[in-house]
Amino acid sequence: MLPVIALVGRPNVGKSTLYNRLTKTRDAIVADFAGLTRDRHYGDGKVGPRPYIVVDTGGFEPQRPEGVVSHMASQAELAIEEADAVIFIVDARTGVTPQDHRIAQTLRESGRKIYLAVNKAEGLSAIAGSEFYELGLGVEPFMVSAAHGQGIASLMETVLSPF
Ligand code: GDP
Ligand code: MG
Repeated sequence: MLPVIALVGRPNVGKSTLYNRLTKTRDAIVADFAGLTRDRHYGDGKVGPRPYIVVDTGGFEPQRPEGVVSHMASQAELAIEEADAVIFIVDARTGVTPQDHRIAQTLRESGRKIYLAVNKAEGLSAIAGSEFYELGLGVEPFMVSAAHGQGIASLMETVLSPF
């Protein structure tokens, strides 16, 4: 069985951009507006000799009870459940948001292995990642740029090393 890696985070942090880079396709639709990827979206990729399945998810908003937003949240929750590891993506440009805190809580409760990717970090120093320690995940933030391909190899080598 290939390891399944879920990409989780609030809308617009760059999940689909990272998915496309990891699968080397234009498969997931990257949008300038929030929440376009409404269903789980599967692809496969490889880092060195290690193949994996990666799952893109719609925007994650666990607080809303109904409608399409709630559907997106449950897709993200299903993706977390079936994942061997989760990459939690946050946005270096906006910093920590209340929604990030809620997702972090869901992830802590999931018992899954969590990796924290601070995206849109091109041109920023590592110090910009330090505020994300307040999410309480107990992991080091990886500074990445999904759009520019920076930090992705190092992140994925770490994520895949147990498999
Ligand atoms: P999703 O909603 O989490 O799937 O986010 P998308 O992948 O659709 O990206 C949302 C927006 O962020 C798009 O305008 C992307 O071009 C932009 N974006 C994604 N990754 C990066 C990055 O590494 N740096 C910057 N500056 N923008 C990015
Ligand atoms: Mg998306």
